[in-house]
Amino acid sequence: MESSVAAVVVAAGRGLRAGGAVPKQYRSLTAGSPIRQVLSAFIQHEAIGAVQAVIHPDDAARFAQACDGLDILPAVMGGTTRQASVLAGLEALSDREPQIVLVHDAARPFASKALISRSIAAAKHSGAAIPALLLTDTVKAVDAAGVVVETLDRNRLRTVQTPQAFAFKPLLAAHRRAAAEGLANFSDDAALAEWAGLMVTVFEGESGNVKLTTTDDFARAESAAFGALGDVRTGSGYDVHAFGDGDHVMVGGVSIAHERGLIGHSDADVVLHALTDAILGALAEGDIGVHFPPSDPQWRGASSDRFLAFALDRTRARGGRIAHLDITLVCEAPKISPYRDAIRARIAEIASLPLGRIGLKATTSERLGFTGRREGMAAFATATVRLPWGSHD
Ligand code: MG
Repeated sequence: MESSVAAVVVAAGRGLRAGGAVPKQYRSLTAGSPIRQVLSAFIQHEAIGAVQAVIHPDDAARFAQACDGLDILPAVMGGTTRQASVLAGLEALSDREPQIVLVHDAARPFASKALISRSIAAAKHSGAAIPALLLTDTVKAVDAAGVVVETLDRNRLRTVQTPQAFAFKPLLAAHRRAAAEGLANFSDDAALAEWAGLMVTVFEGESGNVKLTTTDDFARAESAAFGALGDVRTGSGYDVHAFGDGDHVMVGGVSIAHERGLIGHSDADVVLHALTDAILGALAEGDIGVHFPPSDPQWRGASSDRFLAFALDRTRARGGRIAHLDITLVCEAPKISPYRDAIRARIAEIASLPLGRIGLKATTSERLGFTGRREGMAAFATATVRLPWGSHD
């Protein structure tokens, strides 16, 4: 295919310096995991026809969950070095014979569409091109004792990033040759291309295209993402369903065995209904009944996570993020506390939010009122939603 472009996203590292229980590329950020952000950016770029992720064998389940629904090629397993992982990605693309291939790190989730476009244009022009930044600090060479031995001419120096872009065939040939010669530790693809004798040119990188490496990097990325969403809204929601026949209740997407069920048109999940209304309230976009009329038979018995997912989609469509969700559940029974963390985890999963952004409390009403008489269950919810200024009135 003429002028076809493919992307290899390298995600096989362990990312240990970033701390945390999961590799950094799978960390839960409010904008989604870094790997999902990266893959989405490449998929959405109209010039790119195929996106190949390279992952660590231990991450297959994580990857499947993080990248569910994305239009990408089946992931391939990486090797013990970054270089081996890139080669695995290139080999997986070799039958397609793209003209240009972009190689990008999954830990750089902020590469813009413009940067991707520049990389493609530069590689078409020179055959091998990398994004580079001028240095603003003075650079010194020092010896082992910490003594300055030289002040380098920073005008000749650049720091480089990814995506690095290459004519596909020469890069694959260079990688194969390096592997055959047992050279396994080139720090980037440009270094390997230089070794193979290819001319590598630079194009303008982006200061925001940082590689998330340390815990501080993640904190800064979150802070910047949230800081840009200055229109902070609070929405509230309230829902009640009556007890009736049944042997379980759905609470926050979790089935809890109980001597009674809850009566409702859908699965009568008061927590997810109240949360949906809280988010819609923050958006000032009506309520659950407007979008999912009880008169419509298609919502009969529906699993309520779709209502919450709808409100989350509306939030994303406005360019916003959920900062926090908080719920108070009111009932005499069943006892909620044994299920508190399971419910929070389920909501976190539906909303793609860290667990620390979901609060859940439960209380009785001291046998007063309809909840006290065990006639039904009630839930109050509050959603804190951050939107960009001017996303609507
Ligand atoms: Mg309801």
